[in-house]
Formats: sequence, C-alpha cells, structure tokens
Amino acid sequence: MLMGHIPEDELDSLTRSLLLPSPGRGVYARTALFEQVIEGLTTFISRHREPETQVLRFPPVMSRSELERSGYLHSFPHLLGGVSCLKGSEAKIRAVVEQPDWANELSATELVLSPAACYPVYPLAAGYGPIPASGLLFDVASDCFRHESTHEIGRFQSFRMREFVWLGTPGQVLEFRTRWMFLAQRLAKQLGLEHRVAPASDPFFGRGGRLVAMSQLEQSLKFELLVPLSSKEEPTACMSFNYHRDHFSSAWNLSTENGDKAHTGCVAFGLDRLALALFKTHGLDLGKWPTAVLENLSI
Ligand code: 5GP
Ligand code: ZN
Repeated sequence: MLMGHIPEDELDSLTRSLLLPSPGRGVYARTALFEQVIEGLTTFISRHREPETQVLRFPPVMSRSELERSGYLHSFPHLLGGVSCLKGSEAKIRAVVEQPDWANELSATELVLSPAACYPVYPLAAGYGPIPASGLLFDVASDCFRHESTHEIGRFQSFRMREFVWLGTPGQVLEFRTRWMFLAQRLAKQLGLEHRVAPASDPFFGRGGRLVAMSQLEQSLKFELLVPLSSKEEPTACMSFNYHRDHFSSAWNLSTENGDKAHTGCVAFGLDRLALALFKTHGLDLGKWPTAVLENLSI
C-alpha cells in the first residue's frame, strides 16, 4: 500500500485503490476507504451550513422539461444525458430486445440525468411565491452526470455534487458568494489542501459558446477553488462559486417580495474530487493523515 505523499506518476495506483473502474469510462465503484472520506466531507460541509437553510436531497434524475426551460440545451447540449426506455406492447418489446441493435429502439422519457445539483431548486422555489426579503437558502445534493469527452483523473461522467444555493437580491447573492469564497479557502486549509481561487468559465457549447465563456470571465460570474490533482501546473476545480445574475429567475419568474427580479448564485462542492485531492495530498493510510484533518472530517 502506498503511504505518505504521493508523486504524480503514482496517481493511477492511488485511484486503483479507491475507485474500481467499470466498462463505462469515467464511471467507478467506490471503495469503503473512499466512502469513509466522502462521509467525513459531507459532515464537514454540513457543519458550516448557515442558519435557516432548507435541506433537500435530489435523485440523480430530473425533469427534462425543467432542464430545457433552464436553458441547459442551449448552453451545454454536448454534456447532457437523457433517460430512454423501450415503449410499446409486451410483444413489441420482446421482439426488440432480441435484436442486436435494440438500443436504437430506445425512446426518450420525461427524465434526464441531473448535470448539477441546483437545477431542480429554481422551479421548486418558484412554487413558493415571492422570495422573502431575507432571501432563500438551500442545501442540495445529487449524483450528477456529464457526457465528458475526456476521462482524465478527476473527470468522471458520474460524480456527486453538494451545493448551497442563494436566491434573493443581487447584493445578498454577491455577499453570499464572497463569504463562501473566503470560507472555502479556510476549509481547504483545515483539510491540509494546497489550493488557490481563480476566475473560471463553464464549458459552453460550440463557437458561440466561447464568446459566452469569455463574457462570463469578464463579468467575474464564476470562480473555482483549484487543488493539484493530476498536475500542479493545471490544478483541478474542486469547488465553484457561481453568480447567475437573473438567468434562472428569468426562466422561472422568480421575484423578490417588492416585485424586483430575483438573482441567484450557488457554491458547489465536487465531493469525489475533494476526496481524491485529500488522498493525493495525505496518502492512502488514514492512520498517517494529520490529526487535525482527521478531526475535521470526524474520522
Ligand atoms: P461546475 O458546475 O462548476 O462545473 O461543477 C461544480 C463542481 O463539480 C466542480 O467544481 C467539481 O468539483 C465538480 N465536477 C465538475 N465536473 C466534474 C467531473 O467531470 N468529475 C468530477 N469528479 N467532478 C466534477
Ligand atoms: Zn449550482
């Protein structure tokens, strides 16, 4: 077993002890050791949940029409995965599954795989009526799917995301995001993770998407907490701090009590990446991790 600090070229053996590959690329079974740290991270994050936060845990699937209305198809069609089923009579289905190309007969359902944990929150909040003057804060989580084109370490097709989401005035959302950008760095330090926060953009689709990404950068709408995982020069995003302005409130007619359009923002934790970063930093033997880190993770 590897112990202590792990050089870059041993990263593969690191993941082999934590994640068992399946035939689907970027899809892994997680070992008990890995899950112990995921549970520790989950508790650690919950300990920093702000008062008056509504906690919701979502399944890995969500409504296709709601994701469409949120604008996902326009921005990230290349990452989307849908749930498809065989439809028709028993006789038809039986005949179809006998064919080698049975998968061509699958047809779309009203469900897609959630690409981020916060998408189902906005339609849900819209159902509550106007947003109170103090704002609304949610703690959400779900398994997420993205049809990634590469599968380097830490780029999974299926991964777990935890988020805090604020809905309210622009000032409240920006304050929430700034607060978390500072707190996240303190948390990374408490976990013994080398890190830095940097401006970022989302992988918008196509040539038009590159312009949107540039504008996102110019407007400082997204920052990421980066931790060295597979490379020190190109550290991996383990958390993100996002200001959506009125993107979701326009889609869902979210307004504040005084009738102004609401703004939204979210802080996202990539749990699998954070766990990998912890193992990469401290090694595979939990007994050798710094005591303070273990205490923070309640291990
Ligand atoms: P974002 O919505 O900012 O792209 O993602 C939020 C967080 O989810 C990221 O900061 C990262 O930690 C995690 N994440 C995003 N894409 C992937 C991925 O392909 N694999 C894994 N393991 N985590 C991801
Ligand atoms: Zn989000």
